[in-house]
Amino acid sequence: MSLEEIKKATKLIKDSSKTMVLTGAGISTESGIPDFRSPGTGLWENIDPMEALSTSVLYNNTEKFYKEGFNMLLNMTDAEPNRAHYALAEMERLGYIKGVITQNIDNLHYKAGSKYILEVHGNTREGSCIKCGTIVDLNILINKVNNKEIPPKCDKCGGILRPDVVFFGDMLPDDFNIALQEVETSDLLIVIGSSLMVSPVNYIPQVAKKLIIINMEPTIMDSLAETTIHDKAGKVLETIIEELEKE
Ligand code: NAD
Repeated sequence: MSLEEIKKATKLIKDSSKTMVLTGAGISTESGIPDFRSPGTGLWENIDPMEALSTSVLYNNTEKFYKEGFNMLLNMTDAEPNRAHYALAEMERLGYIKGVITQNIDNLHYKAGSKYILEVHGNTREGSCIKCGTIVDLNILINKVNNKEIPPKCDKCGGILRPDVVFFGDMLPDDFNIALQEVETSDLLIVIGSSLMVSPVNYIPQVAKKLIIINMEPTIMDSLAETTIHDKAGKVLETIIEELEKE
């Protein structure tokens, strides 16, 4: 991270009348949740999330899902926000960003105090019945699974309960279209901690008027950005806030 990169990013934020942020798994690695693609530590290295978290396994091999994929999700629910999540909540409070679009399902932007959050891949707070649509707290699913009720069943209609996370094969929630509209009507999008390999979310940066990318490694969309900063999200965002408040 160079001072020149920070100054460039700060100027883009100051000059923008509406800025949105798009976050990915990389913003949560400092909270102890592995991302999918970082070399050596990414989840992809140990287990294939495209299978474990797929509608095909959820619906056709529900027992396998509740023994494997479900546990991957539960590993996220105890995590705490890190300085990058807190910095974004602060930037919203100070009026530098309108809100956060996140691909993450770990609830950490909520826990850090962000107010306007669009969760385009769902969350790990709730689940719902695939038959009658009743929404329940995720803890109800957890308790049922711990009591060996696999798959967990809806108390109202007996249908299978599933987490409200978007699996490979699922449609995206309304938040995705709202996110696209927000970015189309913004001057600037800041992408943080995403390889931008996951479609259709990686369409969002392509409709941005101006783009800043903050990511440990180069991404496939670096050439679209006004500026890229290849460093840890928490350190970069704290430095940007210092610089914004200085001027
Ligand atoms: P990804 O794993 O494809 O890419 C993460 C990127 O973050 C990598 O390029 C890596 O270099 C970078 N990175 C890692 N640590 C960083 C740090 N401290 N600061 C800055 N950058 C850092 O993640 P993705 O693009 O979000 O795609 C993965 C998909 O998997 C998403 O759709 C998401 O829903 C899901 N996922 C979510 C979580 C979570 O909720 N925390 C965790 C794993 C995967």
